[in-house]
Amino acid sequence: MVIIGIVGFQGDVSEHSDILQRLSREEGMEISVRLIRKKEDLEGIDGLIIPGGESTTIYKLLKQYSIYDLIKERIERGLPVMGTCAGVILLSRDTGDERVEGMGALDVRINRNAYGRQINSFIDEVEIKGLGRFKAVFIRAPVIESVENAEVLSEHEGNAIMVRSGNILGMTFHPELTQDIRIHKLFTDIIGGGGYSSTGT
Ligand code: GLN
Repeated sequence: MVIIGIVGFQGDVSEHSDILQRLSREEGMEISVRLIRKKEDLEGIDGLIIPGGESTTIYKLLKQYSIYDLIKERIERGLPVMGTCAGVILLSRDTGDERVEGMGALDVRINRNAYGRQINSFIDEVEIKGLGRFKAVFIRAPVIESVENAEVLSEHEGNAIMVRSGNILGMTFHPELTQDIRIHKLFTDIIGGGGYSSTGT
């Protein structure tokens, strides 16, 4: 049984939860999903998802409920994390916006609103290393402007859109808004790869 937490303040929380439930049904995996809103919720989780939404809002609430630093610390200790869209902004080293402090878990520099406003949302087929073609949904997506110490798993028009650094996965699009479970499966494979113990020190 793996316990996967989803930062549960705002954004695509139920969509991530639904896709994890599907993954668990279709792949016969035992996944328990837990919404993370306070310190105690972090106890015993094996992996964490930071969903798409509004990074300034999610950031504010993580701070307000005093779990921003705790999450950052756990990531530094090896907790596997996946951030989608606003989530990858929060995981970045440089968000390009002083209103949101990145956790520095992914060595990337972000431009939050490079694609402009809502009107610039789009869907495109992209190629993901190890997974193949994937329908990527971009909604007011941030742009990853530079990548230092991370592996680029996918690019779109010359910019990285999906990166991995050890146990950390980040992407500027929303796999939770498709019916495609492959990216969540990749994340559970990373969790299953081990190395992190929620009870260890
Ligand atoms: N641009 C948004 C932000 O800065 C992210 C959009 C999204 O997650 N769909 O938070």
